[in-house]
Amino acid sequence: MDVDARKQALRYFHGKVVEPLGYKFSPDEDLVDFILEQEVKIEQKNGIPFCPCQPIRGDREHDMQIVCPCIPFHRRHFDAMKRCWCGLFVHKDVTDPDSLPQLTEEELGLD
Ligand code: SF4
Repeated sequence: MDVDARKQALRYFHGKVVEPLGYKFSPDEDLVDFILEQEVKIEQKNGIPFCPCQPIRGDREHDMQIVCPCIPFHRRHFDAMKRCWCGLFVHKDVTDPDSLPQLTEEELGLD
């Protein structure tokens, strides 16, 4: 499939999933475009749009938790940061995604 067409399709389907969870695509359009392009490439190689910023381990239980959008599996962590790991999604009230720190669960006191 054409990469741009698949990016548009992922944008549509991802939006449907994250909207009811209180998230939206980052206002940083360049970042969104870049990450979606990486997801399309990962999907072409692996058949599934795994997260571009997480390692695929070959362990199904782990790997299914990094299929984008992975928000339901990491909700507490992402809600605390108001963003997902990659920054593709942010809380709906976020207007300046660059101001959001990326912190570990340990740093947030969640573990
Ligand atoms: S961290 Fe973000 S971009 Fe990566 S899989 Fe999860 S929701 Fe998608």
